[in-house]
Amino acid sequence: MSCMIDVVPLRAFKDNYIWTLRADGCAAVVDPGDAAPVLEYLSSERLRLIAILATHHHADHVGGVAALRERFDVPVYGPRGEPIDTLTRPVSGGDRVDLPELDVSFAVLDIPGHTRAHVAYYGANLLFCGDTLFACGCGRVFEGTAEEMHASLAKLAALPDDTLVYCGHEYTLANIAFAKSVEPGNAALAARERDDAATRAANRPTLPSTIGREKATNPFLRAHEPAVIAAADKYLGARAASPVAVFAALRDWKNRA
Ligand code: ZN
Ligand code: FE
Repeated sequence: MSCMIDVVPLRAFKDNYIWTLRADGCAAVVDPGDAAPVLEYLSSERLRLIAILATHHHADHVGGVAALRERFDVPVYGPRGEPIDTLTRPVSGGDRVDLPELDVSFAVLDIPGHTRAHVAYYGANLLFCGDTLFACGCGRVFEGTAEEMHASLAKLAALPDDTLVYCGHEYTLANIAFAKSVEPGNAALAARERDDAATRAANRPTLPSTIGREKATNPFLRAHEPAVIAAADKYLGARAASPVAVFAALRDWKNRA
């Protein structure tokens, strides 16, 4: 399917991105934590809002929904099973979100871990994954278990390598610094640091990433790699019994780093 959709980052708060999909005078937004930058953009670009998509219930992702709904009577898609009182179309894994105005259709993926029922939207080679997969990192495990988060990340890692990955935050350089402490010998990681540092120095987003780039550089998707296992074992002072144990060790290490 040829897709003429544009994906534009709107910055919010300190480091959030509100991803805005636009085509043909219409727009949809993903995770509008704040309405102000969205309203400003829609008005300056003369766009009509047609849908709101939320990945999880945290305020920095849904805090702007009510104010947007006051201006635009649009459907609000988001995880069934999370406390979001502005949802009009609760969704979960296996559901689809069709946005005919943008000529795009997304599959909903369940990716619990950061929150209990966190979802991702995947379609047209685009992935909106909120606070689950970050560039070179992953979200904190607040409401789920390490097992769930590891499985959710594995589900995303199984998407095609050229999938464009749109995360909820600009955390890339800090994540790369941590990744280097796990895998100092990873040449792809060193190359990525050079690229992404230059991008940030120019005040541009390091996103989207790709699934292929994440598989090559993101330690949280590399819990099966010998170098990552060795680093986790060293951190634990013991042998991690499974890929989930490696993942949990990395997450704990990152939380304390
Ligand atoms: Zn969050
Ligand atoms: Fe967030």
